[in-house]
Amino acid sequence: MAWTAHKVPLPELVEASNDLDEKARELANLIRTSKHFIVFTGAGISTSAGIPDFRGPEGAWTLQAQGRQRTAAAVSTLQAIPTATHMALVELQNQGLLKYLVSQNCDGLHRRSGILPDKISELHGNNTREICKDCGKEYIRDFRAVADDTKSIHDHRTGRKCTICSGPLHDTIINFTEPLPARELELALEHAQNKADLCLVLGSSLTVTPANEIPEAVGNSRRRGGGAKLVICNLQATPLDGMAELRVHAKTDELMVRVMRELGMEIPGFVLRRRLAVTTVEVGGQGRGQRCKVVVSGVDVDGTPVSFLRSVKMVNNRRVVKAEPFAFDLRGDVAEEGLELQLELEFMGHYGEPNLELVHGVQDNELGVAVVYLLEYNPYNGEWKTTRTKQ
Ligand SMILES: [Zn+2]
Repeated sequence: MAWTAHKVPLPELVEASNDLDEKARELANLIRTSKHFIVFTGAGISTSAGIPDFRGPEGAWTLQAQGRQRTAAAVSTLQAIPTATHMALVELQNQGLLKYLVSQNCDGLHRRSGILPDKISELHGNNTREICKDCGKEYIRDFRAVADDTKSIHDHRTGRKCTICSGPLHDTIINFTEPLPARELELALEHAQNKADLCLVLGSSLTVTPANEIPEAVGNSRRRGGGAKLVICNLQATPLDGMAELRVHAKTDELMVRVMRELGMEIPGFVLRRRLAVTTVEVGGQGRGQRCKVVVSGVDVDGTPVSFLRSVKMVNNRRVVKAEPFAFDLRGDVAEEGLELQLELEFMGHYGEPNLELVHGVQDNELGVAVVYLLEYNPYNGEWKTTRTKQ
């Protein structure tokens, strides 16, 4: 990975409001008629969530090039509310219009906003995702899972271990000079070179290689007469502007709000979604002497473990477990008595989410099977909604 930073940041250009309306209409038409629409995002889409970009006037690299320190406090990426742009992309995905997303951002906001794991390549990693290089198992954390950089920036070990094979876990962040993750890059290129007929760049200066080769591949296809179209929305000029079918100088939220209005689609509000698996397994004994173990864990839609719980309390026997694995022993004939477990869940709480009480009925035919609950927290009204899902 290579990049450049300007001591004097490139000027930010802003469209007149009616020009922006016209371009939004044009883009909405392109999206509506596309067969394989992909989006490429950079730090510019997260600035309205309070997360600084890199090359804007107050961007991280601009400040570094000028020898300045940041004065205003930036929002932690764990507490940031996904922007209108993030949520518009989720809706476009859910409506089947957005086929694939490629992002240079490591803030994890796309995944948290609701983009599915098989619909995204996070080219520069995700600061809440770590991986076991021995067996390939991934883990998502509701805390910053990045190696301590006081060692070497190329030592990515986080100090935690894989629960499957005990191998050391590594963060997924890509530092200067490090190669991009092969699988993510391969998927991104596959969509850009062979499938996309429309690529929208949102909030990227397109100066970082090789990530910028993704939109470039779409632009090149157009140059070769391939018909794929590139649309770029970024306040500053980019090196690929000459290849673009449409060039928009605006904040990405301002464009996407207009585009969604043109498409007649609503931008959904952000809801924090967690999935909780409760598994009861028999460990021995029979009848009154039956012994079971209940394991409570966080999971992603694809089964990847997600650590978002601080503690779990079994209200029935007042036991509290304060670290993973959240496991409880049960005695007695669980199945026949139709036992109901009362669980009190305590979260990491980055969005101020309160504890949640969950009543879980243990069924005989579900022993050994993970029962998954969808837990939805609305940060705007402070309420949880719990749904038992089919699994
Ligand atoms: Zn492993």
